[in-house]
This record gives sequence, structure tokens and C-alpha cells, in this order.
Amino acid sequence: MAWLQITRSVRASVRKITKALVQGRDRRRTLSRPQCRAPFLELRASHISDPLERLKFLRYQQVARARARWRLPRPAIVLASALLCLVAVIPFPIISDARPTPIRPNLAMRPPIEESGAFPQVWPIEKAADHETFSNGLRVENRYVAEAKPRGAFRVFPAEDPQAQMGTLLTAPAGIVFHTTESDELPFDPSENRTLQRVSAELLSFVRRHRSYHFLIDRFGRAFRIVPESDVAFHAGESAWADHRYLYLDLNRSFLGVAFETRTRPGEDTAGLTAAQIGTARELTEMLRSRYRIEAADCVTHAQVSLNPGHELLGWHTDFGASFPFTAAGLPDNYALPPAALYLLGFRYDSAFRQATGPRIEKGLTMADSLVESKATALGLSPGRYRGLLRRRYRDVLARERAGSPIEELQNEN
Ligand SMILES: [Zn+2]
Repeated sequence: MAWLQITRSVRASVRKITKALVQGRDRRRTLSRPQCRAPFLELRASHISDPLERLKFLRYQQVARARARWRLPRPAIVLASALLCLVAVIPFPIISDARPTPIRPNLAMRPPIEESGAFPQVWPIEKAADHETFSNGLRVENRYVAEAKPRGAFRVFPAEDPQAQMGTLLTAPAGIVFHTTESDELPFDPSENRTLQRVSAELLSFVRRHRSYHFLIDRFGRAFRIVPESDVAFHAGESAWADHRYLYLDLNRSFLGVAFETRTRPGEDTAGLTAAQIGTARELTEMLRSRYRIEAADCVTHAQVSLNPGHELLGWHTDFGASFPFTAAGLPDNYALPPAALYLLGFRYDSAFRQATGPRIEKGLTMADSLVESKATALGLSPGRYRGLLRRRYRDVLARERAGSPIEELQNEN
């Protein structure tokens, strides 16, 4: 009886599997081989007398056909193999993203500024709570020091071709910008002593509140540190300068600001500086050049570096436009140097700038004009068109200078 039930059960399974095979065949009518295989299997199965053997045979065939369903057809295998071979033999540049590189005129120009290579030697003698003294006679008062934002790292660019790379990060002050405070000029006379001291103290409080400069030299020639050299003072605004190596943008960060309590006299070659101020100018310049290895060519006046970006003009500020005593301060006549804004950035200067400055700056302006004209001729461009390309380059470099946080990048590089 049990045997009979097993036989019936096996027969029912055989019928089910045969039916499934036939239905599967119908679903895959588009495939030619399975279409003819199902009747053939049924025929072969009918010749197996043992029901268990017949069931085994049909199950085996069902599994084999299910596996065969997922096999790629032979033409597809051949095609895939051919494609793999093709990828292996084609050289990489052909399949890389070969976008055309934009062609730009070669704007590279070597700045006509020599490396001095010689620095004064000045060392500190004494440091007290409120002042410091140095080997060249300099005394720096620290009573008005105000902490400000740390300088951190700043980005500079190769002066010859500022677009050639993303820039280099520096941390030490690279130059000095000389300013006038545009203060009222009281008579420098013993009878005015009290008033002179009061005005000086008020000025010191004002520049301290605004973190206007790193140093202020009052009319008595006293040098006051206002913002530590490790911090940023807001003395230069939009500005640019270049030496034989680098183009500097944002001199608030990269240069030190040294101000003199005096007023610029437009068109005059001499400032109303006292003898004491001129003496301190030399001592302070020597100390800063010695301590930070500052090139003589990087000691310049605000008029030489100040930018008016809205009008693409040199000289938003024009203090010390022609009256800084470079020689007395132990420096070469840096008014003879071409302002970077003119020959590297494509800026111009107008008649208002000429009136606000003076004859001594003319040599540097003339040199910058001739550099622009000769380079434009070499490129077959008008000076105006050439300046336009320089200004476009300036905008690109300025965006790089302002992008990201140089402090973070320096930390990452270290
Ligand atoms: Zn200034």
C-alpha cells in the first residue's frame, strides 16, 4: 500500500515537472533550442521504466535548463571578448579627456628690480616692560600695543608670471609701507610743547583703536609699536607690490605699516618731517630689515602701492607720493622703481594722481609705461589691449589669493 502511494506521488511529480518544462518552453518561444528539447525530454523520460529514476532524470534536466537560461549566447561572449581585447590594446591618451588647452599670450615679464642681498645688522640690547632698545640706538615704546588678528600665512605669486602656479605661502613680513597720518601740523616749537604732546597722545589712541599701523613715529621721533609684527594692521587697503621674486597682493597682511605724524604736501619733494623723525625712520627701518630680512626694494610708500580697483587706477591713497626721504632712511631712491600695479596688473594712473604726488615719482611711472609699451609691441598688441589682458590675469590671481584659508593650507602642508 505504501509502495502504491509512493508510486502515485512520483507519477504526480513527474507530470508536474513535465508540465513545467512544457510551459517554460512556451514562454521561451523566441529561443530555438529549448523549443525542440521539451518533447525530446518527454520522449526520453517515457522510456525510463523506474519512476524514481525517471524523476531523477527530469529534475536533473530542469536544473540544467535553468542554469543554461543565464548563460550568455555564444555571439555575445565573442563580442565581449573582442571589446576587452580592444580596450587592452588602445593607448590611454586616446580614450582620456583631451579637451583643448586655451591659448593665451605669454604675458611673462621679468621685473626690473635687483636683489640687494645685503641687510643691516641690528640686535636687541634690552627689553623692559614698556620699551625695547637696539644696537643702532633705536628705542621702541610698547605702551600703546594692541593685539590684533594674527598674520598667519599669506600667498605670494611669481612676479615674472603670477599665473604660472597657485602661489607660495610665506609667514614673515616681506616689506614696509611708509605712511603719513595726515595730521594737523602744529608749529614744532618749545612754546607748543604741551599741545604737541596732547595731539600725539590722541593720535596714538586713535590708531591703536583702529589697528591702523604696526608703528607710529610721532613728531618728537619716538617710535611706538601699535600692532605686533606678528599681527595684521589695516594700513594699506587694496594694494600690490613686486620685487625680483614675488608679486604681493593685500599688503595689510604681507607688509608692515610704518606711519609718521605729518601731512603729505602734494607736488612737494620734501615732507614736513622733523629731524628726529628722519633719524628714527632710519633706525626703525634698519631694525625691521635686519630682523625680517626685508629687501631694500620692498620698502616703499603708500602712494606707490595703493590701488583703486573700481577704476583700475594706481593711487587710491597718495601719502608720501614724492616726499619720503629714502636716502636719509638708509635706502636707495625707491621712487625710481616701477609700481607693480602699472606693469604687472594693467592699471593706469590719472592726472589727479600726478597732482597729488610729485616729480620724484615720475621716473618709476615712466619706466612702467615703457615696460608696458615694449611688451605690447613684442606681442603685436596695442598697449590698451595688453593692459586688458594683464587686468584679466590680475583678477584671476586675486581670486586665488583670496580663495581658502592660507593658514589651514600651511598647517596641512606641514
Ligand atoms: Zn597711508
